Amino acid sequence: MFKNESYADKIIDGKIISLKVLEEVSKSIIDIKAKGLNPSLAVILVGNDPASSVYVRNKKIMCEKVGIKSTEFKLDENINEEQILDLINTLNKDSGTNGILVQFPLPAHINKQKIINKIAPDKDVDGLHPINAGRLMNNVESLVPCTPQGCMIMLKTRHEDLSGKNAVVIGRSNLVGRPMCQLLTNSDCTVTQVHSKTLNIENYISRADILIAAIGIPKFVKAEWLKEKSIIIDVGINRISVNSNGENKKKLVGDVDFEEAIKKVSAITPVPGGVGLMTVACLMRNTLIATKLQM
Ligand code: NAP
Repeated sequence: MFKNESYADKIIDGKIISLKVLEEVSKSIIDIKAKGLNPSLAVILVGNDPASSVYVRNKKIMCEKVGIKSTEFKLDENINEEQILDLINTLNKDSGTNGILVQFPLPAHINKQKIINKIAPDKDVDGLHPINAGRLMNNVESLVPCTPQGCMIMLKTRHEDLSGKNAVVIGRSNLVGRPMCQLLTNSDCTVTQVHSKTLNIENYISRADILIAAIGIPKFVKAEWLKEKSIIIDVGINRISVNSNGENKKKLVGDVDFEEAIKKVSAITPVPGGVGLMTVACLMRNTLIATKLQM
């Protein structure tokens, strides 16, 4: 992958780490199936967004691999909010459903927060319900959003003890940035959160022992901003056009200028092959946790 092979050991490999997580999940699922339980995940997809359909398909394939029963509810783009809430209500009450996931984005006429609030907290495998956010804030056991959970597992492959590290999180979404800050704080990091209104963002980034980039702007973070020997977790997934031999092709890149950054830092996640794989693995992990919570 690299001209200079010495960079290879700097890569935090999502493929290897996610496989380990999935192996552990599979083993636990065998154990709880022996006790008569059958972990199951309900996935609700509204409309025909092509990217969402791919994500849902990938989740279904992963469920099959680890032994989770998955059921897809494909709803029409024009469905009204009440009908979705009714379906969630039915799934909340169904003892044969352990996890409920609503694939985002939703059509504009649906209130996303209302949908999240309806999911029973112990079935909320995305960890977005305010009760789960509150549990995370109180540092008590909760269903933690999959992407930041995956980032923490990746980080801990390099530093088991994160105590005292300066961590900077770029982004403040409920899905990634906010829970990420909470997890890092719960691991005794000193956390700074920056966002689109932060002035002189590079001043904060340059002090980060750990940098989490969750922005959605290709190669936003420049290598010259980074602290030597820092650890970089790149959450961003951006599709860009590149010209290869006169042909226009699409390529996935992260929020960090990976090729330059890897020369300077001690460890970095690639895109693709990094956080994205961990997100799906942690969804399986959360479905298992949700099943145990309901035991
Ligand atoms: P989001 O809700 O759009 O949030 C983006 C955050 O970046 C916001 O907090 C925004 O600040 C901040 N931001 C935007 N422009 C900025 C700038 N110029 N300087 C500093 N901060 C800036 O996105 P998200 O859901 O958190 O996702 C972020 C990225 O991660 C996206 O590329 C997404 O595709 C990717 N993602 C990947 C995975 C995975 O599994 N790998 C999972 C989820 C998301 P404001 O709050 O001020 O607007």
